[in-house]
Amino acid sequence: MAQTIGFIGLGNMGGPMAANLVAAGHRVLGFDLAPSSLEAARAAGVTVLGSAAEAAQGVDTVVTMLPAGRHVVEVWSALCESVPAGTLLIDSSTVDVESARRAHALAEARGCPSIDAPVSGGTGGAKAGTLTFMAGGAAEAFARAEPILRQMGKAVFHCGAAGAGQAAKICNNMILGISMIGVGEAFALGEKLGLSHQALFDVASVSSGQCWSLTSYCPVPGPVPASPANNDYRPGFAAALMLKDLRLAQAAAAAAGAATPLGAEAAQLYALFDALGHGGEDFSGIIRMLRGTKAG
Ligand code: NAD
Repeated sequence: MAQTIGFIGLGNMGGPMAANLVAAGHRVLGFDLAPSSLEAARAAGVTVLGSAAEAAQGVDTVVTMLPAGRHVVEVWSALCESVPAGTLLIDSSTVDVESARRAHALAEARGCPSIDAPVSGGTGGAKAGTLTFMAGGAAEAFARAEPILRQMGKAVFHCGAAGAGQAAKICNNMILGISMIGVGEAFALGEKLGLSHQALFDVASVSSGQCWSLTSYCPVPGPVPASPANNDYRPGFAAALMLKDLRLAQAAAAAAGAATPLGAEAAQLYALFDALGHGGEDFSGIIRMLRGTKAG
């Protein structure tokens, strides 16, 4: 059923997500601090307004897609002073679990159902409407959010209570960061041993080394033609964003008392890659640093 939806944060991800809600027949009221984001959203059929509070007036649902936890808490604090009780609040940003839970608490105090629903799938998935959403929050809030999320994505999971979506996101991306370094190291070692990329790929892709970083996102050109390695490591998924997610995982691990030694090492390696000026490259480009040929 068509709704009026407020959308706050119309950047690389939020812009195309809002455009997909317009295409699905909703009336979308949008706000962003950046004039360039507003212009693109207007061109996609979003009704652009002058503040977050205005974009959340008279709507059924508000979606936020912001850089980090402090932005989400700030925007939700303001929203929760003005939106009517019962307005559904969805945050799809990737943020720390603590901030996600604070945002839920603000919504609850206002009488608003809320969902943390971070995404996987990147800007390509946002444009194509094929994101994966992982949601945390009460079952009734999820039931209201799910049809809207499905209009921006291909898969929607309810992972548990408040913050569970963010927990699933950072655990998944910690696996991804670690596995990409593992695959990169294996190719770098294979090269030194005189093994061709294709031979290692053929064996490992059907053996116990098989993983997404190898078979869907291979960090060397050739075996998987669509991977960023074939496009000079243009993102894709930027290394700086991988570093952000690995740091969120480390903060969560420290707060929860979980031992994540490989997650910690992956965060350090991506921090070095970023410090060497490669944060804007695809995260699979870390193989060039691992080889020691690019980032020495
Ligand atoms: P972005 O920087 O392109 O967009 C964020 C937007 O939020 C900007 O346009 C900015 O002006 C706006 N903004 C900041 N503070 C605001 C405020 N107080 N009020 C209104 N607007 C405000 O970032 P992005 O790539 O769209 O990422 C958004 C979120 O999605 C991040 O949390 C990111 O980690 C996550 N994410 C990104 C990707 C990706 O590939 N880009 C993939 C998965 C998840």
